[in-house]
Amino acid sequence: MHRVGIGYDSHRLVEGRALVLGGIEIPFEKGLLGHSDADVLVHAICDSLLGALGRGDIGRHFPDTDPRYKGACSIDLLGHVVKMADDDGYLVENIDCTILAERPKMQPHFEKMRSVLAGCLKIEENRINLKAKTDEGMGFVGKGEGMAAQAVCLLRKR
Ligand code: MG
Repeated sequence: MHRVGIGYDSHRLVEGRALVLGGIEIPFEKGLLGHSDADVLVHAICDSLLGALGRGDIGRHFPDTDPRYKGACSIDLLGHVVKMADDDGYLVENIDCTILAERPKMQPHFEKMRSVLAGCLKIEENRINLKAKTDEGMGFVGKGEGMAAQAVCLLRKR
């Protein structure tokens, strides 16, 4: 049996924060603001997995009011979600993601992101697809006020 899930997230870009995306730090003059490391891509992936499992969303499991998750490494949160999927008897068939960011260029970082994500998800890299788009100057992404990410995953019963 298969189950599908969708995830979306967005965070504000600010000065004085590291830009963490897909579990890696990317050199940029701004970073994403959040209670955790604000890894918008990993948060979208977490929500897609939780959606497929029928287990609500990331805010329910890791509330941003909980001091335990202040400065949390989002890859660790994803690890918890992968454990939930495993406990429910599901394996990740594949994940497809889109990062929405005006700058910087994402393509040069995809190989490393996929490697980190595959390690956390315990799947082969070819089961993870990463894409990036600009919003051509429109809206909060286009104006560089923030970044967003979307993810879709398919789970397979073990
Ligand atoms: Mg988030």
